Amino acid sequence: MDRCSRVFPCLSDPARRSALGLKVSLVLLHVIYVGILFLFNGDLIEKTKREPWYTSLYLLLFVATLVQYFITSSSSPGYVIDAIRAVNESNAIYKSLSVASKQPAPSKYGTVVETTDSSQSAPVGNNLTSWTKLVLAMHPPGTSIRTLTCSYCNVEQPPRAKHCHDCDKCVLQFDHHCVWLGTCVGQGNHCKFWWYIFEETALCLWTGFLYITYLKANLARACYLALTNQTTFELIRRRRIPYLRGVSARVNPFSKGICRNLYSFCCAQTSVYELEPLPTAQELEDKSRPYTCLDCITCRCC
Ligand SMILES: [Zn+2]
Ligand SMILES: [Zn+2]
Repeated sequence: MDRCSRVFPCLSDPARRSALGLKVSLVLLHVIYVGILFLFNGDLIEKTKREPWYTSLYLLLFVATLVQYFITSSSSPGYVIDAIRAVNESNAIYKSLSVASKQPAPSKYGTVVETTDSSQSAPVGNNLTSWTKLVLAMHPPGTSIRTLTCSYCNVEQPPRAKHCHDCDKCVLQFDHHCVWLGTCVGQGNHCKFWWYIFEETALCLWTGFLYITYLKANLARACYLALTNQTTFELIRRRRIPYLRGVSARVNPFSKGICRNLYSFCCAQTSVYELEPLPTAQELEDKSRPYTCLDCITCRCC
């Protein structure tokens, strides 16, 4: 771990390490969730060859979701302390401009630095700071500044701001602290967050639809095989199997009728080996006869 921290200094901080671990886990979760589809769903691979635009669109949504995740997780939710800094800086620039207009001699940069320093050196809780006046103006007259001051980070909270115990900062228009993003959702990233949720939902629904299609096709195939007493190998390689070559596609030579097929499939004793002889030409001819209503009632072999 020490060597790792030396190569990647950011990993020496436990908070950053856990945030990085969270991001890697989320990406892996997405890759596994989507990757399983492409590994096992042969129909999707075939569809990709026929209609490449379909899979391209799906993969585009996959990449866009992950990109939106990283954009949202790395964006600032709008911390009160940053707003205070911005107000102080804009106030300092305003003051420096007014001073410069009255005093033509001093250098521009010197004035800005001096005014900025004087503004920033004032304690945050000082009643005379621009931020305090601004916050008080946003509340009903007579509101005590003490009730507006966060007891954790000692900043005056404007309306709708709240202290986040995970970030240990006050957040403007606090929505919630998102564990998966590893940051708060607030004024600064609320829109980005909702775009991410929208893309993630679309990706989950689309992936869920692909999973359901895959399972439905495979379950239907499995049921069909059980009902007709066929193996997957016989279904797929019918033309290449010598004992099935020349047998009509709608004839299943080993079928004993749906009821008996199901009984054998579900209730056959596994300790007894059942060896099935090849049907005779006469039996195959009987099985190829078209079905009648009577055949359905009597469970004729299919
Ligand atoms: Zn706070
Ligand atoms: Zn937070």
